[in-house]
Amino acid sequence: MRDFVFHTPSTLAEALTLLETYGDAARPMAGGTALVNFLKQGLLTTEHLVYLQRVPGLSDIRLESDGIHIGALARHRDVEISPILRQHAPLLADVYARVATVRIRNMATVGGGLAHADPAQDPPLGLIVLDARVRLVSSGGERTLAVGELSTDYYETVIQPAELLTEVIVPPQPPTARGVYLKFLPRTEDDYATVAVAALAELEDGACRDVRIALGAAGPTPIRATATEQLLTGQHASADLIRRAAQAAAEQVDPLSDFRGPADYKRDMAVVFTHRALERVLNGVPA
Ligand SMILES: Cc1cc2nc3c(=O)[nH]c(=O)nc-3n(C[C@H](O)[C@H](O)[C@H](O)COP(=O)(O)OP(=O)(O)OC[C@H]3O[C@@H](n4cnc5c(N)ncnc54)[C@H](O)[C@@H]3O)c2cc1C
Repeated sequence: MRDFVFHTPSTLAEALTLLETYGDAARPMAGGTALVNFLKQGLLTTEHLVYLQRVPGLSDIRLESDGIHIGALARHRDVEISPILRQHAPLLADVYARVATVRIRNMATVGGGLAHADPAQDPPLGLIVLDARVRLVSSGGERTLAVGELSTDYYETVIQPAELLTEVIVPPQPPTARGVYLKFLPRTEDDYATVAVAALAELEDGACRDVRIALGAAGPTPIRATATEQLLTGQHASADLIRRAAQAAAEQVDPLSDFRGPADYKRDMAVVFTHRALERVLNGVPA
């Protein structure tokens, strides 16, 4: 690993000033679970590490009028066990509970996870179907954008070098909506998914009023399966329609061949897992 200067800012303003001063030569560090591996393997280099863990006020989980605010330094485990999330967005608590092992969930943070942008990560799928937004802050101002707009490619996001992701804002899950998260993990518990799907649906008089589906490990970024959603919206979910809607997932994914399987196999598994998720949220079939 190359040498770097390790900065320990104690306010958000100080952290932002460091990032602005050093630009591309600096990197924020939160839990370090991804960043330290990348530095050790030489996949990343940096001259200045800006350690965020001493910045106060970034790890709360609060219910406000516009949604649940999750600070960027909240750890995956905090989300998993948060009474606020268990009550108001149980799907999200379940998704975070499925990340790797408790050892990793006790270190990895919500902000670090989203900024890492591995398309096989679990949390973005739950956040996308819940229509969550992120707040990005720099010394010059701030902006919010949908979680689905964050990733642009494998390990790439729209976050600028002088920006920090400070919080995620999650609309509460509608109480009548059914949600499910399915993750295909044929290897070990701390492996990333071979394919994963989050689905959230609301029915009205037996018809699909609102259906949202997001797929992971299925392309360079998390994928919102809009064609599948459109086939179902407003329709009564017959077995045949669910089968066709799941089949449409094959056209929407673009997986890589790797040690978890060839691309064609993963495309087929995306259809199988979308089908299972739809049966669960539309027909109440146990996963
Ligand atoms: C063995 C292993 C298995 C794993 N399996 C899974 C899995 O199955 N599913 C899953 O979802 N995750 C999994 N993870 C966790 C995931 O891949 C990341 O390691 C983790 O989410 C990163 O969080 P962190 O807080 O440690 O980020 P860090 O490692 O500190 O940082 C990651 C990146 O984000 C940047 N960054 C950090 N915080 C911010 C911020 N607030 N604003 C802007 N940029 C920031 C850093 O500069 C860096 O580029 C696994 C991790 C390990 C080590």
